[in-house]
Amino acid sequence: MQPLHIYNTLARKKELFEPLNAPYVGMYVCGPTVYNYVHLGNVRTFLTFDTLYRYLTFIGYKVRYVRNLTDVGHLVGDGDDGEDKIGRMAKLEKVEPMEIVQRFTNDFHTVMAQFNTFPPSIEPTATGHMVEQIEAVEKLLDKGLAYESNGSVYFDIETYNQRGGNYGKLSGRILDDLLNDTRELDGQSEKRSPLDFAIWKRASPEHLMRWNSPWGEGFPGWHLECTCMSTKYLGKQFDIHGGGMDLKFPHHECEIAQGDGLSGIDPVRYWMHSNMLTVNGQKMSKSLGNSFLPSELFAGSHYLLEQAYSPMTVRFFMLQSHYRSTLDFSNEALKAAQKGYRRLANGLRVIQTMTYQPGEDAASTELADEKKQQEIRQAVQQFYEAMNDDLNTAVGIAQLFTLLKYINMLYLHQIEASVLGEDVFNLLKESFITFMHDVLGLREEGSDNQPVLEGLLTLYREYKEQKQYDKVDQIRSYFKAQGLAIKDMKHQIDWAYEE
Ligand SMILES: [Zn+2]
Repeated sequence: MQPLHIYNTLARKKELFEPLNAPYVGMYVCGPTVYNYVHLGNVRTFLTFDTLYRYLTFIGYKVRYVRNLTDVGHLVGDGDDGEDKIGRMAKLEKVEPMEIVQRFTNDFHTVMAQFNTFPPSIEPTATGHMVEQIEAVEKLLDKGLAYESNGSVYFDIETYNQRGGNYGKLSGRILDDLLNDTRELDGQSEKRSPLDFAIWKRASPEHLMRWNSPWGEGFPGWHLECTCMSTKYLGKQFDIHGGGMDLKFPHHECEIAQGDGLSGIDPVRYWMHSNMLTVNGQKMSKSLGNSFLPSELFAGSHYLLEQAYSPMTVRFFMLQSHYRSTLDFSNEALKAAQKGYRRLANGLRVIQTMTYQPGEDAASTELADEKKQQEIRQAVQQFYEAMNDDLNTAVGIAQLFTLLKYINMLYLHQIEASVLGEDVFNLLKESFITFMHDVLGLREEGSDNQPVLEGLLTLYREYKEQKQYDKVDQIRSYFKAQGLAIKDMKHQIDWAYEE
């Protein structure tokens, strides 16, 4: 089998994944700026890296997964000027900036739990690492890679490049093009070159979040926290750095320059970026009115949504496309995902209760069918192949449907387990459960309701025996309203999601 390959943005190709210190893997992902509700584009990024974290762990790596919370320094417009996003919100709401941070951190954690993502191993904050950031600024100044100007400190791109740096190499931008695209500096600018970026900013009198520093009161530049926190917990060079595509430039480009500037080594071996979301083919954005929040999706309360979609439906929907492709939200696509997810969830519910039974009596025992055995073995193998091919969850999920076909055949007694043989039956069962639960993070929903449903099925059976068909019909329609169907079989009465 092909070992794990991942697409490295820096190399612009898929590369064999070789961790620095196997079996340990260090992974850093840029977390949210906690000034507002987490939006779906961010959710996709975190689901992608949650799946990678799960898969790396599943195949035996010991992963330290660091995902930060940006609680200072991210300015409106993502550049070096303007208000702090959190400070601005605090002023609007007349509360402490830390109240904003707390509120949206709580929301973020709730949403991440709804989507069944694992918490990271460490979730550091920018305000919790002020000492490290000030030290980094001092070090870059000492090395001559930064300069102070009017109480702010800027990273000096020209000097960095003269000393062998290659600013622009991640995003593939050419320095001259970047310079041409940037407005000329006016005489007032504190920067020597428009490409230089702030690593420390002087706080204006009205700025709320401020710390003492050798350069006066101020706050760290947005890019610096990720450099300080990733290298503090993962070492000056580590395995994987992930984030959304929109962070490639300038944020990640700046992280490379800072990390390299500080330690003389490229900080990251594999850069991974997840792609954007679109809605009905258009870019998702607040100004177009087509961006919705996870909570609106779960409630079906946005005008573009025809119905509510559960967190697992959305997780499944996102995993059905490869993380490097754009993903389009539409009601049709979500409905199809709901149907697909429910079929798989039903398979999960069913297979968990099944155990291997050799035929009921020797005469009826069918002989093992090699073709069926082979198809199951192959689907399991191809699931791994797909995941090893740059985390191709789309192809992996297709293999789950092959396995599901056999689960349904067993469930409907179209084949007996003896046809598969004990080994292949167990392979089918274990693989289906672990791929769903452990690798893809898909869990059954509505299980709170399960005792009620099971109780109703008992009643259904009793009414049927007593020939009280009006009551039988009532229970049937209750199930139907929930998108469920009652299956009357030779051996038992059970329920399943409607096909
Ligand atoms: Zn970052």
